[in-house]
Amino acid sequence: MAALTKNDIKITRTESSKISSIDFNNLAFGQVFSDHMLICDYKNGKWHTPEIVPYSPITLDPSAKIFHYGQSIFEGMKAYKDDKEDVFMFRPMDNVRRLNVSAKRLSIPELPEAYFMEGLKALLEVEKDWIPTAEGSSLYIRPFIFASGKGFHASPADEYKFIICAAPSGAYFSGKVNVLIEETYSRSANGGVGFAKAGGNYAGQFYPTQLAKAKGYQQVIWTDDTTHEFIEEAGAMNVFIRINDTLLTSPVSDRILDGITRKSILQLAEAEGLKTDVRKVKVSELVEASRNGSLKEMFGAGTAAVISPISGFGFRGEDFIIPEQDASFASKLKNRIVAIQTNKVEDPFGWRVKL
Ligand SMILES: *Cc1c(COP(=O)(O)O)cnc(C)c1O
Repeated sequence: MAALTKNDIKITRTESSKISSIDFNNLAFGQVFSDHMLICDYKNGKWHTPEIVPYSPITLDPSAKIFHYGQSIFEGMKAYKDDKEDVFMFRPMDNVRRLNVSAKRLSIPELPEAYFMEGLKALLEVEKDWIPTAEGSSLYIRPFIFASGKGFHASPADEYKFIICAAPSGAYFSGKVNVLIEETYSRSANGGVGFAKAGGNYAGQFYPTQLAKAKGYQQVIWTDDTTHEFIEEAGAMNVFIRINDTLLTSPVSDRILDGITRKSILQLAEAEGLKTDVRKVKVSELVEASRNGSLKEMFGAGTAAVISPISGFGFRGEDFIIPEQDASFASKLKNRIVAIQTNKVEDPFGWRVKL
């Protein structure tokens, strides 16, 4: 089982490729999907050999447990193609491991790592032409597992599906975002599932985010659920705060997702000689830093946007503006990470994995 290689994966090719109808220079994020997907079933107590099939809807029983009890986890990653047509992934083993961390917490059977990695490689070989090369674009990859097993009994399902699909995508956000510091709702709690990439974590975020949007903000800054005093994440991204020349981010915890972009930024910043400090940051410290001018930057970090700069924040009815910086850490770090991802510079960290 663990000895699976990509040659074991059966490939059924589409008879009608959509690729000629796609404008690769004008892609939104995650709106169009490539021709094929990888699909793998868990039943009778084991994961079966994955297959590549044409991208298509799937049929589920109305009692499938995903609909009722929310056993659903996912990953987000990207593939890039350089000008020699070589294809690269970024730290893919970190995604596999995290998927299994999420699986364990949601009582989903863990997936053999080879099923993910070999499956992904096989899919990328089939979909190579779907990887866009325009500046800021990539093939966004969405591996996910959900409970397809039937029954209203509130217990883990006996069947699951692991699917990988891919969406050629342009840049995620355009422009800076203005955020609202949230003190009423929480994204996650101690002992909960905040550290897992579980679909339900997102469902719970939408309503508070809609309320923030109605007030003119684009995103929410989550604070800890107990005291709401500490800054935790920016929407579905990890958050960084630059005070003077130090880059701060909260340590990961039960409540905070262990982002691959977050840890890459920390490593990269240190290698570039920037000061970093992984510690809890109080909202009051942020407000104080904004008032005294030491707050230089704030940004979200995640695979989709890489780095999403924050232009200001609202807190208890007051708006704080973060002034534009020349040579911001955000743009420096983003350029460097993207250059590593897209094989434009050396990768001293060993993050890039060639297909
Ligand atoms: C996916 C995610 C992130 C970012 O993780 P990356 O591995 O950098 O993409 C951060 N926070 C939450 C809540 C997430 O779901």
